[in-house]
Amino acid sequence: MDRKDCIFCRIADRDIPSPLLYDDEYVCAFRDLNPKAPTHILIIPKKHVASLAELEEEDFELVARIARVAKQLAEEEGIAEKGYRLLSNCRADAGQEVPHLHFHLLGGRRLSDIC
Ligand code: 5GP
Ligand code: ZN
Repeated sequence: MDRKDCIFCRIADRDIPSPLLYDDEYVCAFRDLNPKAPTHILIIPKKHVASLAELEEEDFELVARIARVAKQLAEEEGIAEKGYRLLSNCRADAGQEVPHLHFHLLGGRRLSDIC
């Protein structure tokens, strides 16, 4: 996958301008274009990994980094105390639309749905 062909690689590369709420060597975070909750942030690895199903052994550390960033952002957004959800849609049955691994950080309202 050429990074130019992936919208989230382009955001990570600062090729498409999107204000970053978090940015380090491995991970960045930005607000979802179409928010489903008062706080709706996408947290991604800068490395192109298509989904959870494509994670290789050396990539699992990235997921831990993302969990740490989610905790920090939830505190900054003021949603940590009441609660929040961190989820990643994997492939078609989960409704994954963007084929670059991302975790949704959702909060600021009571979240329902199936889990
Ligand atoms: P998925 O369904 O793949 O789990 O979620 C993809 C998410 O990416 C959707 O919530 C959608 O609103 C968001 N999204 C798609 N394109 C862009 C974009 O160019 N910028 C931002 N910030 N979010 C996007
Ligand atoms: Zn990508």
